[in-house]
Amino acid sequence: MERKIYDICIIGGGASGLACAAEAGKLMPGISVFIVEKNDVPGRKILSTGNGRCNLSNMKCPGHEDVLRFFSSIGVMTRTDDAGRIYPYSEDAKDVAEALTGAALQTGAEIMTGAVCTACSFDEKERLYETQITVKGDSAAEHKAFSVLSRRVVIAAGGKAAPKLGTTGDGYRLARKFYHSVTTLAPALTAVETHEDLSPLSGVRAKVRLSLIVHGGSIFEEDGEIQFTDYGISGICVFDMSRFMVIPEGRTLINGFDDYAAEIDFLPDVRDVDSLVRERLAGEPESALRSVVKKPVAEMILGRTGGDPEMTAWMLKHFMVHPSGLRGWDHAEITRGGVPLNELKMDRMESKYFPGLFFTGEIIDFDGPCGGFNLENAWETGLRAARAIASDMETMGRDDNGRQQEE
Ligand SMILES: Cc1cc2nc3c(=O)[nH]c(=O)nc-3n(C[C@H](O)[C@H](O)[C@H](O)COP(=O)(O)OP(=O)(O)OC[C@H]3O[C@@H](n4cnc5c(N)ncnc54)[C@H](O)[C@@H]3O)c2cc1C
Repeated sequence: MERKIYDICIIGGGASGLACAAEAGKLMPGISVFIVEKNDVPGRKILSTGNGRCNLSNMKCPGHEDVLRFFSSIGVMTRTDDAGRIYPYSEDAKDVAEALTGAALQTGAEIMTGAVCTACSFDEKERLYETQITVKGDSAAEHKAFSVLSRRVVIAAGGKAAPKLGTTGDGYRLARKFYHSVTTLAPALTAVETHEDLSPLSGVRAKVRLSLIVHGGSIFEEDGEIQFTDYGISGICVFDMSRFMVIPEGRTLINGFDDYAAEIDFLPDVRDVDSLVRERLAGEPESALRSVVKKPVAEMILGRTGGDPEMTAWMLKHFMVHPSGLRGWDHAEITRGGVPLNELKMDRMESKYFPGLFFTGEIIDFDGPCGGFNLENAWETGLRAARAIASDMETMGRDDNGRQQEE
């Protein structure tokens, strides 16, 4: 029996894979798309994004209008908050995952869940990709292995962050098999562990200005809410700071962060520190800090300064903590590093080495701050790959069976 040859095989039914399938099906009705997804449901990670609300884009992203048009075309209405973060109107991430899955299925995509892509290769002579897939059974004997043939492959397997959600870095292994390099990978958008014992502050939240200092100079600064934990610091501004904490060449996890210090300014709005010293801090130390910072913070600062007014004022603006590490892959939202952009035709998301091989989403060497930038990257790259494929198919024409004619 003749084997079916799909137009596209998408490895990973997450944000970018589903967007790619939905758009390709819309632009090229009848296109045959096979999606292999490790999890039991497609779009599993989308459900966890934005604390279940799915911060799907940001007004600051140059491509957000195109992305919003796409979402509107699949029935997702959105709203934007004061900070420019864009969410589904219902603020329910499930609606986004379901709309994407529904749109992909509606255009005829086949989605196989609970199925792991174990390898992928290109047959130069046939000009076909062969994707090896294992479907897990209850026992080893019940595992099924088979392969899918396709004219194109989209590697949309995500990064290494949040492995419980299916992303265990498989895509990088596949990329290397196609001679692509992968830049140094690190967990990002994650909490930071500190050398200082901050457990007395655990649970305290404060609106601060956070800076990352290296060799006396600031390389990152952001206003936001910090959360103290028993291992260190967390919160959106800390997550954003983690993107800049690169372990220098030749260092290890043990001493990799020794050059970094995080400076917490508890009074970002106060410029006139001298009058603060005169009017408040010269008085009785305990009451001087009441209503300025939360009690555990006041106690820690006064413990460090002994109540000296000048030093206390200085420490309110320059509370230093020293990172000992990042919280790691299990707790990170994204991966820093990936397939270098200069190995891809970025207008198509296609490999420069293998025609018909595409990379979308987090697998590429892109990382954005919190606020919808990473999902935006997933949608944008997924749509770009779909449009490149549709335009190629349009140019090349199809035969009567809806199959693309060979050149
Ligand atoms: C907790 C959390 C919250 C987040 N919140 C936000 C947010 O609010 N806004 C934002 O912009 N970004 C957010 N992100 C980041 C964002 O979710 C990712 O950057 C985005 O989902 C990446 O899209 P992707 O398509 O590359 O990969 P994913 O969405 O991760 O999808 C990849 C898929 O590939 C599958 N897969 C992997 N390997 C294989 C294999 N071998 N075979 C078959 N399938 C495989 C995985 O199971 C997964 O479903 C968050 C991330 C996390 C973890």
